[in-house]
Amino acid sequence: MSFSTPKTITILGATGSVGLSTLDLVRRNPDQFKIVALTANSNVQLLAKLAVEFDAELAVIGDANKFSELKDALAGKPIKAAAGEGALVEAAQADASIVMAAIVGAAGLRPTLAGIRRGATIALANKECLVCAGELMIEEAQNSGATILPVDSEHNAIFQVFDFNADRSVEKIILTASGGPFWNKRSDCLKDVTPAEAVKHPNWDMGRKISVDSATMMNKGLEVIEAFHLFPVRADQIEVLVHPQSVVHSMVQYIDGSVLAQLGSPDMRTPIAYAISWPNRLNAPVERLSLADIGQLTFAKPDFDRFPCLQQAMDALKNGGSAPIVLNAANEVAVEAFLAERIGFKDISSVVHSALTKLDMKAPHSLSMVFEMDREARAVAKAIVAKISI
Ligand code: NDP
Repeated sequence: MSFSTPKTITILGATGSVGLSTLDLVRRNPDQFKIVALTANSNVQLLAKLAVEFDAELAVIGDANKFSELKDALAGKPIKAAAGEGALVEAAQADASIVMAAIVGAAGLRPTLAGIRRGATIALANKECLVCAGELMIEEAQNSGATILPVDSEHNAIFQVFDFNADRSVEKIILTASGGPFWNKRSDCLKDVTPAEAVKHPNWDMGRKISVDSATMMNKGLEVIEAFHLFPVRADQIEVLVHPQSVVHSMVQYIDGSVLAQLGSPDMRTPIAYAISWPNRLNAPVERLSLADIGQLTFAKPDFDRFPCLQQAMDALKNGGSAPIVLNAANEVAVEAFLAERIGFKDISSVVHSALTKLDMKAPHSLSMVFEMDREARAVAKAIVAKISI
């Protein structure tokens, strides 16, 4: 299907895994999309190359120290260069009908909000910002008329099969989880796993932070919180089911016993295509699913003992207040320390646990409180990491 005028699109986090998959779809469908702005954090050369290839109007580098390098790389091109946190917000404010929110971590919150506040369609990959400020973000979207479309494969799957006209007939949402690279590892072997092993996901090719989150299963915990904010269900209506093949991307169970699922090959270009072309569908160059070749799909209950992060996130949702903010901030700090080989794999959940017990859990009433609590939680988590660093 082709549209009369191309949809304009800004990609926050263009140089990352989701950003590049989005650009791959744009590259293959040049008549349907026009890039307005692209952003990155520090990868100036790739950002400049993409901005030139896609004829962007604006290229923004988050790290202000890299501004002159970006300007040099774009010299003589009709592309505006900008740098710093404020410029990331400007990129989201630029006049594009779709903002792909694919910055990793809570760093994506301000720019994503800027897109929401001007009523754009937000293709939301950045789950951490919903975890930190879900209620406030949804409220802002209701005020501005922004549409939030989930990119995360599980939420995108639910979005495809959830009957929003009859939400009372939904009994539960079943989020599937691959179990990550260590699903079959014994608990006592987990303490020695290396960052290289943790980022090697069996099914998905993703950025380093989300890959570690998948290995600890914190990713699924963050997704439970994300689902709570995106869909009209209670926390106790969200269930996690381990499905190592990553073919069934999630399911919705209805009161008549029907279970509707979305299936597909594990390739982010399918959910991204759905988010950026909704309510239409876009031809995506993904491997077609052959269930006969796969033969067997298996399912299991999650193991909360071996993967405590999942339970920590579910508890944070139940406890509310600032618990999800602290959980997310402490996890970001711990994952970074693990990737830098300063703490072990099992320390990630210990850092999160200690941060959650050390901080006051009052509810944030404003975005400035969210940022303040996030800052405080990071400081506490860094101090915990410093104590246990190896
Ligand atoms: P990557 O690490 O691959 O990419 C992250 C992007 O964000 C890069 O463009 C990076 O720039 C930029 N970035 C990083 N830190 C900052 C910062 N402080 N300020 C501004 N920009 C920053 O991540 P993914 O693409 O894997 O994930 C992006 C988001 O999407 C995450 O929230 C993740 O949980 C979610 N997601 C990802 C999936 C996947 O398959 N990868 C699936 C579902 C959800 P630079 O390259 O310069 O560092």
